[in-house]
Amino acid sequence: DAEVVFVGRSNVGKSTLMRELTGHNKFNTGKKPGVTRKPNHFDWNSESFMFTDLPGFGFMSGVEEDHREVIKTDIVRYIEENAEEILVGVLVVDGKSVIDIIDRHSGEGEIPHDVEMFYFLEELGIPTVVAVNKMDKVDDKDERLNDLCDRLGLYPPWEQWQDDTIAPIVAKRGQIEPLKETLRHHFHEAKRDDL
Ligand code: GDP
Repeated sequence: DAEVVFVGRSNVGKSTLMRELTGHNKFNTGKKPGVTRKPNHFDWNSESFMFTDLPGFGFMSGVEEDHREVIKTDIVRYIEENAEEILVGVLVVDGKSVIDIIDRHSGEGEIPHDVEMFYFLEELGIPTVVAVNKMDKVDDKDERLNDLCDRLGLYPPWEQWQDDTIAPIVAKRGQIEPLKETLRHHFHEAKRDDL
């Protein structure tokens, strides 16, 4: 089956989003940041896609640096080994803080985790959607989304990317239609490629 993988830092709202998408309640929301979880598989609607929730990466409070690296290596290995089956990657970010976090980690010889993961998926030929969550906390939405495009190397304005790459959402309120649209887009593309 085709697979959709979800990656993102802890606390961006990944579990909330996956609950909204699948209607399943049994996501591991028990806050043990950074604890390596087995990928979870779920079906979506009548289509037999698998949703795989990979553990949070990046900032994990109370987790040792080398343990963080182990988790990241696990994620990278999982994606590399399953790249053939992975139809779409969904990188979930917190719209309120994502620019600050990226800029804080953009020092010399440093690549912010979110940017790194976006490029990594792209390099493996996996189309990637950025689910920009918590947009309810963002005042100037267009500016924030344009800044994000800029940091990811996508030409602004962000509207150019809304069909396939950038999906502003409010998972907590179930406002996830933009993400569903981009997922449908990639599902259709994949079916067309199969013909
Ligand atoms: P995870 O660690 O990425 O799985 O994050 P969770 O799904 O556990 O959510 C982390 C926190 O963000 C919780 O307090 C959620 O209620 C909150 N949250 C999730 N989605 C949204 C959203 O769209 N807007 C706001 N303001 N908060 C959200």
